[in-house]
Amino acid sequence: MNDPFTVDTGLIEYILSIKNTGEAEREDGDRKESVVDQFLHFVDEMPGGFFIYSAGGDEKIIYANKAMLRIFECDTMAQFQQLTGNSFKGIVHPDDLESVEKSIWQQIKASQYDLDYVEYRIITRNGVVRWVDDYGHFIHSETVGDVFYVFAGDATERKLMQKEAENQVDEERRQYLDVMEGLSIGYESILYVDLDTDRVQAYRLNDRTRKQFARELEIRRYSDFAGDYVRTWVHPDDRAYITKSTTPDYIRRHLAADKTFYLNFRVVKDGSIRYIQLRIVNVGEGSGVSKIVMGYQDMDAEIVREIEQQQILKDALQSAKTAIVAKNAFLANMSHDVRTPMNAIMGFTGLARKHCHDDGKMKYYLDKIETAGEQLLSLLNNILEISRIESGKVHIEEERCSLTEILQEVQERGMSRAAAKNITFTLDLSGLEHDIVYSDGPKIAQILTRIVSNGVKYTKEGGQVSVSVREERADCDDCVIYRFVVEDNGIGINPDMLAHVFQPFEREKNTTQSGVHGTGLGLTISKSLAEAMGGTVEAVSEVGKGSTFTVVLRLSLRDPQGGVTVEDRKKNVRSSGQKRVLIVEDTEINLEIETELLRDAGYLVDVAADGSIAVEKVRNSQPGYYDLILMDIQMPIMYGYRATEEIRSLRDPALSNIPIVALSANAFDEDKKKSRESGMNAHMAKPIDTPRLMNVISSMLEE
Ligand code: ADP
Repeated sequence: MNDPFTVDTGLIEYILSIKNTGEAEREDGDRKESVVDQFLHFVDEMPGGFFIYSAGGDEKIIYANKAMLRIFECDTMAQFQQLTGNSFKGIVHPDDLESVEKSIWQQIKASQYDLDYVEYRIITRNGVVRWVDDYGHFIHSETVGDVFYVFAGDATERKLMQKEAENQVDEERRQYLDVMEGLSIGYESILYVDLDTDRVQAYRLNDRTRKQFARELEIRRYSDFAGDYVRTWVHPDDRAYITKSTTPDYIRRHLAADKTFYLNFRVVKDGSIRYIQLRIVNVGEGSGVSKIVMGYQDMDAEIVREIEQQQILKDALQSAKTAIVAKNAFLANMSHDVRTPMNAIMGFTGLARKHCHDDGKMKYYLDKIETAGEQLLSLLNNILEISRIESGKVHIEEERCSLTEILQEVQERGMSRAAAKNITFTLDLSGLEHDIVYSDGPKIAQILTRIVSNGVKYTKEGGQVSVSVREERADCDDCVIYRFVVEDNGIGINPDMLAHVFQPFEREKNTTQSGVHGTGLGLTISKSLAEAMGGTVEAVSEVGKGSTFTVVLRLSLRDPQGGVTVEDRKKNVRSSGQKRVLIVEDTEINLEIETELLRDAGYLVDVAADGSIAVEKVRNSQPGYYDLILMDIQMPIMYGYRATEEIRSLRDPALSNIPIVALSANAFDEDKKKSRESGMNAHMAKPIDTPRLMNVISSMLEE
């Protein structure tokens, strides 16, 4: 209906001319008048708006139909003319006028039919703002001048719907951008690149990229930016790689199959290095790669953590390898160290059997067998000790002990070996002022004995080994710092070895090759024990000149338990004549050895194959019948501890106080402690150290 092309423009021109010239000038009377009336009537009643206005000057409204008045909420033409000032300028909302007029003229110029289409707001007579569609047609007429006739429609509803749809799109777009922002939060710089046009636009900038872009959204040539960035920031060692990997060709190749890839590189800022990850994502549509997003992420914390983790793993691997190498070396040494004394034992046993009637040879062979046995025993002890230390099972006792006695014991052990090598062994006690201390005497002896034994081992014939002790004031009244120094003028230790001489299984090549017996565990044990007692062991040494080991211990002068000692529990049970010993032992070979040894020493011997038999024998014995019991610990039916407790609880004190000596292969400190706690008087380790055992037995029987 509103289509302007259906209206005969000549007819309109004619009507307008009639309207303009007035009734009197009409030439052909009623016929034409009735056509005009009919036409005007038709236009007036059209449902869509229609109006005509002059194209020049004040754009005066020449005609407006009823629908047009309705759009403007006017009842009469007079109201409409008043509202609009009877001008097209008054029809259009003032805010839209300029752009509408401009648009109309541009369209008219461009259109071959002088047509235009515009939309604008109007303000109705009731002050309501509405939208109008305006289809205009420009007519140049000689008779009536230039005019526009316009078909107009109320577009408010469509506009509102359109606006709503736009708002919805805006909201979705905003959400989309929020999502993008959220996802890209970790990126310090984000760039949008069009590889085809060689353009890069900055969306987010940080300290570094701000040097390449003056502001966000600035556009540069991508090739310029890429080169500039590499030159300014990238670490020299990574420049070639980053230059190559950010060329359009490289990016296209890598994005052909995958949506994204990333590059890790280092940048240098103020002399320090940071790790950056550049992620490149294909955001364009279609098959080719042109539009990409580049996101720069600071990975410093993560990469540094990763590098640290790798270092930890490397160190762990290295120490595992070192441990394997050390253990392999240890096993190789062990094999040698076990085989050598075993070979001696077996070889000399064979020889002894062959020459059993030659006393001189026999003694020589047996001495050799004894030495080899001692070596095996020390090896076994060392290995057991170190495994206990490594599993954290070291217990430190605090008992009354005499340092003089301890050092003399150390001297005694060292001397026997030193004498064999013609080594002068000296013990200097002049610096000892407080002899009695409350500490773990056996452990102090062990620490020093191992160091002294090394001094003797690694000093050539005719050399010297000395032990001395010095006191220093400690930070408390009841304790003293003791400095035990073991010095030798032996082969010395080279500086490399000295650095880890206290580590397990470490042995110097020259000592292993020279055939000196050792396990590389002695110093580890000494140091660990000293540390467990709160002390230290240090070594200084010079190859060819000798070594000095210093053990520093802070020892207490006061009895922590108020003076009760093991000795207090010893009870005397005396009998006259030959003494009888009850041996409680389940292993036949041990029983045989022990029986032989005791009989040989002049004792009467009785035996019990387990703890319960021993208890029964003692219970049923006459007081004084047994003078001492040698008690094995690990036995079937009843353990030695239990048997001791039962004997100690017998009613007759003459029976319950019989001295009991543990004789056990369980030789650790806590085994000794348990023995004491169960009521035993002493604890001896197997294999039997015969002279010591005899000393212990006789000293108990003498008391
Ligand atoms: P080992 O059982 O081999 O003697 P240690 O742990 O006691 O084990 O000693 C480790 C190594 O330290 C020895 O093998 C030796 O090379 C060196 N060492 C220890 N003490 C001395 C010393 N007094 N003189 C020279 N070298 C020594």
